[in-house]
Amino acid sequence: MTAGNAAAGCKQVFDVLRHQASIGNGVVRALFEVIMARAGALRVVNAVLEDRTITHVIVNNKNGLAAYKAKCFIDCTDDADLIKLVGASYQSGNHNRVNQPVSLRFDMAGIDFERFHAYMRSLGNDQYKYFAMNTPGMKDIIRKAYENGVLTEQDACYFQAFGIPGQPDGMKLNCPELTTKENVVDAEFMTQKQLEGKKAIMRLRKFLRDYIPGFENAYITSIAQLVGFRESRRIEAEYMLTIEDVLTYRKFPDGIAASHYPIDVHGVDDVSLGLKYQHDVPADEQYWEVPFRVMIPKTLDNVLTAGRCAGMDFRAQSAARIQPTCRSMGEAAGIAAAMAVKNEAVRFNEIDGTAVRREIRLPDKF
Ligand SMILES: Cc1cc2nc3c(=O)[nH]c(=O)nc-3n(C[C@H](O)[C@H](O)[C@H](O)COP(=O)(O)OP(=O)(O)OC[C@H]3O[C@@H](n4cnc5c(N)ncnc54)[C@H](O)[C@@H]3O)c2cc1C
Repeated sequence: MTAGNAAAGCKQVFDVLRHQASIGNGVVRALFEVIMARAGALRVVNAVLEDRTITHVIVNNKNGLAAYKAKCFIDCTDDADLIKLVGASYQSGNHNRVNQPVSLRFDMAGIDFERFHAYMRSLGNDQYKYFAMNTPGMKDIIRKAYENGVLTEQDACYFQAFGIPGQPDGMKLNCPELTTKENVVDAEFMTQKQLEGKKAIMRLRKFLRDYIPGFENAYITSIAQLVGFRESRRIEAEYMLTIEDVLTYRKFPDGIAASHYPIDVHGVDDVSLGLKYQHDVPADEQYWEVPFRVMIPKTLDNVLTAGRCAGMDFRAQSAARIQPTCRSMGEAAGIAAAMAVKNEAVRFNEIDGTAVRREIRLPDKF
């Protein structure tokens, strides 16, 4: 991907977005495809490693295989594919190496919100276009559907639905949540979850249409193309963001992202229960930072990772995996790569993370 091409694609996308109050899935997909097409995005299937340096990545498409040479690489493949391909070290999963549950999201439209809101208000839920497991009354309704055989026990574990800005009759379903295992990045498992997920979506559709007033005529408008992983491989990095960093709202001189999103482990980690944030931190300091060093693999010189696969422990990652944090890491990785390629040989562990931080356009305080 060339930075110039990607930047031109971004500009075209943002010129469109500037005039929109909200945009739908289809528009987002079409616009981001512009960026990807300009950047020449391809699937990385292998790489050539010489000592601590990746010299080429091997990509493939319908034309076959091709090798791309570069001075440095940024692995933003969510599952750290590049890191895995060259045999660099990574962690995965909780203390038992089990990853968080996976989900296959879907959207529905044709919802009569007048009826739906009246019903939600009757349950004691005043939130606008949101309902979930913990919405008053919902647990009982879901249990009833389970007892009637409409939903399975697994379907009844997790339910969440949001409104969609700009789509007056639609909602996004952050479910079904599906069972997990050790190492979810496994082709057979992914296919199995994709099939299982579709069946669960059909049951949820029936549940919504039969049990939730306002959904009688609702229909599915899209199903995610891939089952979603919240967490999988996380690189062993120069610095690993820890749960203590999150709980104590730690700041770093080379902090390149900041967040106050909470610990959010789905399903598999009972040791996350009862974790306590440091209580004497002033309200406006209650955020933590992600240092640049979490993106530098310990055993590679010219590679950065950005996104949910960066160096973080399992529970810290549950807070740092969200999109704004991943986006900031991506921006920082791009800045660092631009700095590094000016040198003869790229060694990211010699790049000054505080200089990367200064280049990021941030508010005075994150
Ligand atoms: C069900 C679910 C609900 C979530 N809800 C929220 C939410 O409400 N808010 C929020 O902020 N976050 C949410 N998240 C988390 C968040 O969406 C992800 O953690 C985040 O998008 C990860 O960003 P990323 O850049 O690391 O990876 P991604 O956004 O997944 O991007 C990785 C990209 O790399 C591509 N890729 C993968 N392998 C290769 C390869 N070998 N070669 C080339 N390209 C490759 C992929 O196709 C993809 O385009 C949710 C996650 C899940 C699964």
